[in-house]
Amino acid sequence: MGQRLVSLITREASYAGKPLLYAGTLLLNYLYPPYCPGCGLPAAAAAGLCRRCRLLLASDPDMRRWSEGSDFSYCAGKFYLSQVIACWDYSPLLGRIIQAIKYSGRPRLGVWMGELAADRLRACLLRERCDLIVPVPLHALRRRERGYNQSRMIARGIASRLTIPVSSSVLKRVRPTVTQTSLSGEERQVNTAGVFQVRNRDAVRGSHVLIIDDVVTTGATMNSAAEALVAAGAGRVSGAALARPVLGLHAFR
Ligand SMILES: [Zn+2]
Repeated sequence: MGQRLVSLITREASYAGKPLLYAGTLLLNYLYPPYCPGCGLPAAAAAGLCRRCRLLLASDPDMRRWSEGSDFSYCAGKFYLSQVIACWDYSPLLGRIIQAIKYSGRPRLGVWMGELAADRLRACLLRERCDLIVPVPLHALRRRERGYNQSRMIARGIASRLTIPVSSSVLKRVRPTVTQTSLSGEERQVNTAGVFQVRNRDAVRGSHVLIIDDVVTTGATMNSAAEALVAAGAGRVSGAALARPVLGLHAFR
């Protein structure tokens, strides 16, 4: 490997204005080749997807929207979201991408998927004034463990494309929740009750807030966040996620 690596770095670095930087990047690419998180094949851009996966996502017509709690019967109490949008139907491809955003240390992929999701959300939100984007917060312990909040990355991508302000400090998760994978819809609702607190009521008063999460399943987490926002004076709360897995089939919230 040594000789091949040295000649590769020398050749490429000689073209570059910043030889050390280029050599470092090449070394990293050589040791850890950029791959597409959707299909596992080498991809040109380390942060994004390969062309084939990008086309698959762009051409997938299955975007879903539920209004006024329809199809969220797991939430037995009041439903605080006026609409919930899943940008894609859940598929193995989406599952692999979401796994990579959450567990493979690829926060930039979250921003990139947010940008892609924004193009689909734009059509849904065309006639609605949306004032503020708020990502579902992680508890501080979980965020420290992971190094970043994946929903915040997705929200950043969406906000930049839709030119809507985004704030990750408005809403706080005041206690950690247990992993919800094995919980029923009702148990999830108990698990997520009262875990969110609004820290800046002025920022949400009278506003239409769009909550962003990576996935939405029963809606319990998103509904709990919406409850806190409505209690703080938000005029209306919508929710959006990359996809909605079927409860029990996939190990997601
Ligand atoms: Zn791919």
